[in-house]
Amino acid sequence: MQCDVVIVGSGAGAGITAELLTAAGMDVVIVEEGPLRSSKDFRQLESEAYPSLYQESAGRKTADKAITILQGRCVGGSTTVNWTSSFRTPSATLAWWRQQFDLPDLTDDALFPWFLQAEQRLSIGPWLVPPNQNNELLRTGALRLGIAAAAIQRNVKGCWNLGSCGMGCPTNAKQSMLVTTLPVALDRGARLLVETRVQSLELAAGKVVGLRATGVQRDGTPAPGTEVRIQARHVVVSGGAINSPALLLRSKLPDPHNRLGARTFLHPVVISSAVFDHAVEGWNGAPQTLYSDHFLEVDPIDGPIGYKLEAPPVHPVIFSSTSTGFGAELATDLREMHRTHALLALLRDGFHPQSAGGQVKLRSDGSPLLDYPLTDFVMDGARRAFLSMAELQFAAGAQRVRLAHDSAEPYANWAQAKLAIARLPMKPLLTRVASAHVMGGCGMAGQESKGVVRPDGRHWQVENLSVHDGSIFPTSIGANPQLSIYGLVNKLATKLARDLSGRDVRLA
Ligand SMILES: Cc1cc2nc3c(=O)[nH]c(=O)nc-3n(C[C@H](O)[C@H](O)[C@H](O)COP(=O)(O)OP(=O)(O)OC[C@H]3O[C@@H](n4cnc5c(N)ncnc54)[C@H](O)[C@@H]3O)c2cc1C
Ligand code: SF4
Repeated sequence: MQCDVVIVGSGAGAGITAELLTAAGMDVVIVEEGPLRSSKDFRQLESEAYPSLYQESAGRKTADKAITILQGRCVGGSTTVNWTSSFRTPSATLAWWRQQFDLPDLTDDALFPWFLQAEQRLSIGPWLVPPNQNNELLRTGALRLGIAAAAIQRNVKGCWNLGSCGMGCPTNAKQSMLVTTLPVALDRGARLLVETRVQSLELAAGKVVGLRATGVQRDGTPAPGTEVRIQARHVVVSGGAINSPALLLRSKLPDPHNRLGARTFLHPVVISSAVFDHAVEGWNGAPQTLYSDHFLEVDPIDGPIGYKLEAPPVHPVIFSSTSTGFGAELATDLREMHRTHALLALLRDGFHPQSAGGQVKLRSDGSPLLDYPLTDFVMDGARRAFLSMAELQFAAGAQRVRLAHDSAEPYANWAQAKLAIARLPMKPLLTRVASAHVMGGCGMAGQESKGVVRPDGRHWQVENLSVHDGSIFPTSIGANPQLSIYGLVNKLATKLARDLSGRDVRLA
């Protein structure tokens, strides 16, 4: 196949790039390793969604298996299955990037128009429906402790408040790439290859001269006899963190400063659940509509690790797979799911020398594996987060609190929880850690020695290659990342469209 630009992946970064490049009249091919599924396939069933829409059937793990990683693998990427929370990149994070990674242009003012356009394009705005009980309890506990909690903006249009965003939106209300940028790009002539994985980029004289892709079977393995070679003037890699650096590693791209795959961040998440004397029904209604940044702001950004609190959805598979214990005790916990409230803490990694993130490596078959050590520094944050969540849940009226930690007993009151959590062994694997926010690994920097891509998203050593996805963040964001990707990629892809076509374009 031949085209002007080939885009690897079809998620957040890919969708924005495809819309802008096709607006500039470019002939675009989009290659997605996952399947094309749409609202008619989304039946609010975890049993169908996780195997078909997620990387490694939602069972992706870090090398020591201590962290479970959720990432999308379908048309629309993680935007098809995400929970719609939308935050601009926090000012403190941008200031850190300017200082540490020589990115002087990334100011709030300079990014403002790019965020605004993305917000308008994707209907990101206040969610005016009352929060579900699961979120309301976050606010109740926070108010009683004198901690600020605020509303989360969402990328929805006519949302039915069903709560199954993580299984794909059955009403097309979620303004993911599946229903926004990708259809527009296809209408303008872009071609989309599905169930096709880009295995490697071919390099000659410092340029990518071709891509080798192969069909993918339902279990993720290559389908024999389905190889395709694609030639393009320019290549945009948007496979998401972990997969994008893995593709560049498989292709043996130059990496003179050992930056490729390094500094991969996860916002490691710890979870606390609490049983109330009334129904909570955490599966019902929009997930994550309230948050608290109180514990992000207690210490400086490069001090002890801070964390953001949110209320995740409580569906049977996600709940039972993060529940601890076994036998009768576990059966009781699961039976009480309808009265269970859940809180999560997103730990802001990447701002301290002892939180340098993980390294993407390749397995013998070329598939990616993330080695992410949960250092004592990170685990200290996890302990403080457990304390904060338990205190908040008891303040909200919880009868019993149980942490996602294999050594934690259920606690009946805050005094008991406080003593016990202080003594908990904060070890990987005992502490259940998860992530749905994978960032970094192809970090952006203004100096070649500090990053993989330049401030305009182009690869430092390979001129006709750009990376447009969450892998370009030099640290974690400290907030749910989708809008950071939309905003930053909007800026990069608009410039790329101008460089390649001479035309000025903007999101519709
Ligand atoms: C369950 C869940 C809930 C989330 N909730 C939120 C939320 O509420 N708010 C928020 O801000 N963020 C949320 N996120 C995260 C957010 O959706 C992601 O950060 C964002 O979509 C990442 O964008 P991306 O472009 O980096 O990659 P993705 O959107 O993940 O897209 C990458 C795509 O590339 C494909 N791909 C990878 N490698 C190849 C290859 N070699 N060949 C072909 N295709 C390839 C993948 O299959 C995938 O479809 C959530 C994520 C998940 C999984
Ligand atoms: S809560 Fe809204 S956006 Fe999420 S799945 Fe339901 S209708 Fe779609």
